Amino acid sequence: MAVFQDTWRKILEERSKAGLIRHHKVLESAQGVNIHVGGRPYLAFCSNDYLGLASHPEVSEAAIKSIESYGFGSGASHLVIGHHLEHELLERELAEFTGRDRAMVFSSGYMANMALVSSLVDKSDLVLQDKLNHASLLDGGLLSGARFQRFLHNDMSSLEGYLSRFSQDSKINKTLVVTDGVFSMDGDVAHIDKMAKIAKRFDALLMVDDAHGMGVLGEGGKGTLSSLGLSQDDVPVLMGTFGKAFGTSGAFVAGSEQLIEFLTQVARPYIYTTAMPPSIASATRKSLELIKSADSSRNHLKALIRYFREKVSTLGYQLMSSDTPIQPVLIGSSFQTIALADFLKEQGVLVGAIRPPTVPDKTARLRITLCAAHSFSQIDRLVDVLADALQQGVISHD
Ligand SMILES: *Cc1c(COP(=O)(O)O)cnc(C)c1O
Repeated sequence: MAVFQDTWRKILEERSKAGLIRHHKVLESAQGVNIHVGGRPYLAFCSNDYLGLASHPEVSEAAIKSIESYGFGSGASHLVIGHHLEHELLERELAEFTGRDRAMVFSSGYMANMALVSSLVDKSDLVLQDKLNHASLLDGGLLSGARFQRFLHNDMSSLEGYLSRFSQDSKINKTLVVTDGVFSMDGDVAHIDKMAKIAKRFDALLMVDDAHGMGVLGEGGKGTLSSLGLSQDDVPVLMGTFGKAFGTSGAFVAGSEQLIEFLTQVARPYIYTTAMPPSIASATRKSLELIKSADSSRNHLKALIRYFREKVSTLGYQLMSSDTPIQPVLIGSSFQTIALADFLKEQGVLVGAIRPPTVPDKTARLRITLCAAHSFSQIDRLVDVLADALQQGVISHD
């Protein structure tokens, strides 16, 4: 036992010295732009609830009605007896929404990615992933046992270089290329149109995790692939989550009939876990309906993004090249990032302070997320507080 405790102490001390200890904030209200934490009201810019659906009354109502009819628990895994009509209907609606043959739901995006990557490749295969892919994709790659190579972020020549190098390797059977659609800590969009062409040329399978694009980008909120006009043939494996713009919880994979049938039979993180409660599927079905008709929310969100970027760029902060609701402000030092986030918090404004290992060393940042429920005057407030922080020397910018 002592050897474990020594390890735990050492790691905690290291993290603490590097300014990397994380603390929970306890949310005491509904999720939204005006929230309560520690008995205090805050204006929040840190959730992934991009369309404000997490506390939308119609979504809550759909869950309540479902619980009244079906109770709460799913009671079993999907393949035993936990797969409810509500899951089934949600899957059909998602297949139609994404223009794919078929879809399957998972209890979380983390699990969906572990399931997908580890089912699609094994130790005789290769998986190529963008360096900034979500942790769940990277972990799925490790679990698969496949040769694992990360290519430079959104760099097509780096991807092509690896593909052509590994194509000479006769020990490699199949190749999977995986990317986030919208990068969760940077907010930029992957060059999926180019990747689709490259993947086809090298006979590799392309998978896109569109957790942050679904509901937000594309016509009718159909996501990054739809905004780029990419079909099931271009991107055979599409994954999306419900914990972001959908405002609920869980995830899905959409693709060909055969892909979904294959995953249903072999994906261990799908098979050996309890199905999500039916009420979550019911709430998600309502979210999907709301997303389809949320053009005005999406337009407002786009206007907020432009407005925020224009105003912040005049202050001297370093923004990243993002047109999505994820608007990171690059600081660099973890300590300065915390100092700035703490200052904002004292002023009643909550933002995410993202540090390594979530992002690369020396690239700590504020992760500011905008939501369709924000108003222009709330953006003004955020920008004013950011300006005050510079004026008061909370951080030094050079
Ligand atoms: C949030 C997220 C996930 C994980 O989804 P959960 O449902 O929260 O487990 C996976 N991939 C990306 C890109 C994400 O942003």
